[in-house]
Amino acid sequence: FSYAPAPESPAAAGDIASSYGHFIGGEFTESAGKEALKTVNPATEQVLAEFAQGTEEDVDRAVKAARDAFPGWAALPGSERAKYLFRIARIIQERSRELAVLESIDNGKPIRETRDVDLPLVAAHFFYYAGWADKLEYAGFGPSPRPLGVAAQVIPWNFPLLMLAWKIAPALATGNTVVLKPAETTPLTALRFAEIVRQAGLPKGVVNIVTGDGRTGAALTAHPDVAKVAFTGSTEVGRSIARSLAGSRKKLSLELGGKAANIVFDDAPIDQAVEGIVNGIFFNQGHVCCAGSRLLVQESVQDEVLDALKRRMATLRVGDPLDKNTDVGAINSAAQLARIRELSDIGEAEGAERWSPACELPSSGYWFAPTVFTGVSQAHRIAREEVFGPVLSVLTFRTPAEAVEKANNTPYGLSAGIWTEKGSRILWMASRLRAGVVWSNTFNKFDPTSPFGGYKESGYGREGGRHGLEAYLDV
Ligand code: NAD
Repeated sequence: FSYAPAPESPAAAGDIASSYGHFIGGEFTESAGKEALKTVNPATEQVLAEFAQGTEEDVDRAVKAARDAFPGWAALPGSERAKYLFRIARIIQERSRELAVLESIDNGKPIRETRDVDLPLVAAHFFYYAGWADKLEYAGFGPSPRPLGVAAQVIPWNFPLLMLAWKIAPALATGNTVVLKPAETTPLTALRFAEIVRQAGLPKGVVNIVTGDGRTGAALTAHPDVAKVAFTGSTEVGRSIARSLAGSRKKLSLELGGKAANIVFDDAPIDQAVEGIVNGIFFNQGHVCCAGSRLLVQESVQDEVLDALKRRMATLRVGDPLDKNTDVGAINSAAQLARIRELSDIGEAEGAERWSPACELPSSGYWFAPTVFTGVSQAHRIAREEVFGPVLSVLTFRTPAEAVEKANNTPYGLSAGIWTEKGSRILWMASRLRAGVVWSNTFNKFDPTSPFGGYKESGYGREGGRHGLEAYLDV
């Protein structure tokens, strides 16, 4: 029996303009500069659209629009701001097929993920923070928590619309106005979101979208009229932003990289754990900050787990992101593919054993087969550095204490997973793992009600839940 639903139609993404300007003060406007960037479909390498490389002048106009809109937006009763957020959430639900297809085309991720994970979570974040907008006085922040002003928000390409929702929903709920810069390989859903902002009737200037690469991001975070910087991206860029803001009085939150351990004990239900390992590292092609990129497996079940894992990997369908059966889509960019290849080659050169299932990859586009490395030692670069691709490193341990020690032996601290039937062991482990999120008997589960964020070089500040509001308030 095989079930083969028709692939999603690219036409469902709606009209994609040949070129885009910025969204400033409620209007799409041309850039002050002449430079344009291109965004391509990573599954085909076809150019989807051109968009503007934001200049300092563009950034300045956007920040001014946000600053002008701030007093009116902040003065609205929370219940009124909530209405706008509820409206955005509902429009996202109504337009979710269009947005899911557009995201899959621009990013390369499978439609099953954009349709069933990204878009429902995007809407859920707007619904959730809409619910907070009129309850801030009762949230334990003190009698009159105040918004900060203009928030500069810079996001990565791995979950373009979801990262936008994580940033924009709490900022607006708390009465801030925003200028957001999407990543340079995935600007299209943020630009489509600008249309939704208009459709929802938001006052002009409350949300502004300026496109461009890191230069635009640097101009935005450096702008003197910005009160708050929220950044999600690499640890390297996060560090440079933190340095550049020193002494500026801007509030800063950073969501950075990770190298999560997914820890499997000998009493875990192996089939379930294998699903969790696969989901942990191959979901979204491993372009996930909290990806379970290090499998720590108890020595006594190592062979059993690896056999089951390889059997399961052989069934993964790699290919067309718009095919509803696809499990693993395209790598987001040529540059990211080069990075994954380089680190994987280094893994082999350092002596780890590399394995991928036989799978036919499309001839155009950016692809990398699901890959597992065994015989990995903690000193290997693939065990230490974030690959940000579908590459799993397997290490072993004998005792819970050794598992904790190995899991924590990383400069990162974003997430971890534990697979065991013993509840007491879950609690013992969770209290010792230096990670902002610890999943037990599941992995990569997200929910707007839960705070998310890192320890150590994975960043600081929390997004999601009540804690996510703190980043946007003076208490
Ligand atoms: P990146 O740091 O290269 O880019 C992220 C964003 O920052 C992009 O919009 C980019 O244009 C911008 N940027 C680049 N240089 C800048 C500068 N000097 N000043 C201001 N902005 C600048 O990261 P990436 O490759 O797009 O994303 C992958 C990284 O993001 C991974 O390390 C991943 O772990 C991390 N990430 C973290 C989380 C989290 O919640 N912790 C979530 C998703 C991704």
